[in-house]
Amino acid sequence: MIQAERPTSQRHASLRHLERTSTGDVALFLGGTFAAASDGGARELVDPATDDAYVKVAEATAADAARAIAIARQAFDEGPWPETFALDRARLLNKIADALDANAADFAAMETLNCGKPLREAEYDVADAANCFRYYAGLATKPHGQTFDVPAPSQSFTVREPIGVCGQIVPWNYPLLMAVWKLAPALAAGNVCILKPSEYTPLSALWLAKLATEAGLPQGVLSVLPGAGPVAGAALAESMLVDKIAFTGSVPTGQTIMRAAAGNVKKISLELGGKSPNVVFADANWATAIDYALFGIYANAGQVCSAGSRLIVEREIAERFVAELVRRARKIVVGDGFAAATEMGPLVSARQRDRVEEYIRIGRAEGATLACGGTRPPGDLGERGNFIVPTIFTDTTPAMRIVREEIFGPVLAVQTFIDEAEAVRLANDSPYGLAGAVFTSDAARAHRVIRKLRAGITWINAYHPTYNEAPWGGYKQSGIGRELGTYGFEAYTEVKQINVNLAVEPSGWFKD
Ligand code: NAD
Repeated sequence: MIQAERPTSQRHASLRHLERTSTGDVALFLGGTFAAASDGGARELVDPATDDAYVKVAEATAADAARAIAIARQAFDEGPWPETFALDRARLLNKIADALDANAADFAAMETLNCGKPLREAEYDVADAANCFRYYAGLATKPHGQTFDVPAPSQSFTVREPIGVCGQIVPWNYPLLMAVWKLAPALAAGNVCILKPSEYTPLSALWLAKLATEAGLPQGVLSVLPGAGPVAGAALAESMLVDKIAFTGSVPTGQTIMRAAAGNVKKISLELGGKSPNVVFADANWATAIDYALFGIYANAGQVCSAGSRLIVEREIAERFVAELVRRARKIVVGDGFAAATEMGPLVSARQRDRVEEYIRIGRAEGATLACGGTRPPGDLGERGNFIVPTIFTDTTPAMRIVREEIFGPVLAVQTFIDEAEAVRLANDSPYGLAGAVFTSDAARAHRVIRKLRAGITWINAYHPTYNEAPWGGYKQSGIGRELGTYGFEAYTEVKQINVNLAVEPSGWFKD
């Protein structure tokens, strides 16, 4: 493992963009107004790379959530937004995209400060977020209804209408991007949004809300409630006045939200976890398979729902393949996200680092072999910040917890197979079904295997590329519904059937 030098840059400069309360805390955002929490409470954020507390953020209470819901309800029921001409909504979304691009460097710095990821990853996230707004700006103005050939003199067609007030709860691994995947389609379709960012990473969503307001988003159409899930998040999920809840996060929280949402039978979309298989056949292009196996698990330090966290490799090449992976994993430059040389940053929080370390302990106790890593880095990085070095376990069995459970860190579990049928069986032996990949030079086999994977997002000879245009979501316990693409737009609409009687005369069914 190679360590990057600690940077000397101005790591807090991006904080100047955030609105503050009278006591200096970062303010929450209630339908167009920045405010303190109703009880004045605030949460301290800790830099994942240095352990330094650097800012306090107003912590939304249940009363703040109730206020946001009342504002949103009024904005949807009485405001102009749901009926705004689609082209005007599109113009606004494009303006928000331009504002993101214009501030890309500071947004990336804010993400790196807040969640620790290397700047080059954060820069991708910001560009992706801007493009997501642009994609949905385009989609807003496209045709969405259908017409039906029904018996004359009737005519039948559908229109898509916004669902209403949408509660949107997102995690900490892609703070800006996860927020935008929800906000962009929801706003494009004319909904009103209340966003609950992770309590660890609320900053970029709060700045985005400010830019959206400056771009002309009407009062009340967006609120951002930083704060604890069981308080602000639960208030959204439980409210009888919220029409839809869209959640990205862990399976247990998703289950809690489903139960809470049952009260008024909310529409729900859930993007949950994964333990995704990356299947490598002996005939795969060697350099490509090695490269994507590393990228699949160590991008964002493994804190990716779709991470290729199970490497399922053909037995005849397994030893050589793992030896090369270990050699390359040891070369990954671990360090502070602000250091130019850094390839892998810290984990988001001490809590997440502890969780990953616990899984490493479990893996050893279960009898898996630690092929590399498994520790904090030596020296300064091991003492300050939530760093764990790239880790690989071999000699695993399908029943081991490190093979079955989502670790959400830089820990790869290697499994081996002897034929295609076993590869597919191992790949599908999981309660999750989010993503998966296959590496082979045999095109027919690649397609056969991919079609057998019980997963929503798949790659052939690649891992991780994600497109705003294509649907994102999982089978099995990885979730309900799809984000992105036309699917993501439709998930924020109700379908109304409209039937027109073109012969305006009585039916005569009952005699006069
Ligand atoms: P989490 O479930 O702990 O929290 C996610 C969000 O839910 C946070 O904003 C949190 O405050 C909120 N929350 C917590 N308890 C709540 C409650 N009772 N009611 C309402 N809201 C509540 O997840 P996390 O640790 O922030 O994120 C990691 C998880 O997210 C992983 O399991 C990962 O796989 C998943 N994830 C999935 C995707 C995807 O697209 N499928 C993307 C990113 C992350």
